[in-house]
Amino acid sequence: MIDYQGILNNIYQTVILEKDKGEIATYIPELANVDKNAFGIHLHLISGETFSVGDSEKKFSIQSISKVLSLALAMSKVGSDIWNRLDVEPSGNPFNHLSLLELEEGIPRNPLINSGAIVIADVLVSVLDNPKEDFLNFVRDLTGDSSIDYDLKVAYSEKITGYRNYAAANLLKSFNNLENEVDDVLDFYFHQCSLNMTCAQLTKAFFVFANKGKCLLEKTRLTKSQAKRISAIMLTCGFYDEAGEFAFEVGLPGKSGVGGGIVALLPNEFVISVWAPGLNERGNSKLGMQALEQFTTETNQSIF
Ligand code: GLU
Repeated sequence: MIDYQGILNNIYQTVILEKDKGEIATYIPELANVDKNAFGIHLHLISGETFSVGDSEKKFSIQSISKVLSLALAMSKVGSDIWNRLDVEPSGNPFNHLSLLELEEGIPRNPLINSGAIVIADVLVSVLDNPKEDFLNFVRDLTGDSSIDYDLKVAYSEKITGYRNYAAANLLKSFNNLENEVDDVLDFYFHQCSLNMTCAQLTKAFFVFANKGKCLLEKTRLTKSQAKRISAIMLTCGFYDEAGEFAFEVGLPGKSGVGGGIVALLPNEFVISVWAPGLNERGNSKLGMQALEQFTTETNQSIF
């Protein structure tokens, strides 16, 4: 029997001593108002047991982590047709890189970079009756937690400074890879990124991917194949241009966001979320990566 609580305590003791905590993202002005010393982990085993340490119940901006949830909703609504508009190849480039649109045809390299997530946002704006409400309800349903909400200040802050996302959306539109108006698609995208969640809520939301498509409340939300495919995309594309490093150091599928959150999972075993707002130079949580490396090393649990 693994002493999960003991391991989380060890990790906490190690990270609080770290002097270099990375840099908080400031390109979305509202994200700059976060305590750099915050640190939390929550672990949810598929068997139901949970363990946590630090600020695991504090809300933070999940940012790009939301791209996995919007992909899941889009796949559950339209199935494999979405792959006509997107690829599934790792980028090896930063999240907001415009050359990733594959200029000849306007096909983003994968759904977890900004241009790909904007195409997914377009799919959801087309198929949902009330896109922002319906997406929020999807996340609330996955977790069984109706307190989850958007942070409207963060959404607005991103909208008024989102020049690159406007450029990406306009480029997609020019290639006929957006059905809806740029403003409507980006309004949805900025809201999805502004979701405010705790580590504990994130592990619940991602339970569906580790549990063969069945969410925490035992409802089937994805097919087994969709859960497998989304986890594969997380492994290969979940960490901007550091996906290889994360697989090498940690060995789990996962997704990070510039709010400093990371969620990772071992299929059929557990989901783990960590939040430490300081980022490394590649935009991933510096101490979050370090904590997860220590976790998979000390528990000896990874996909490899
Ligand atoms: N909302 C952010 C953006 O589009 C997401 C960035 C991220 O977390 O990677 O710039």
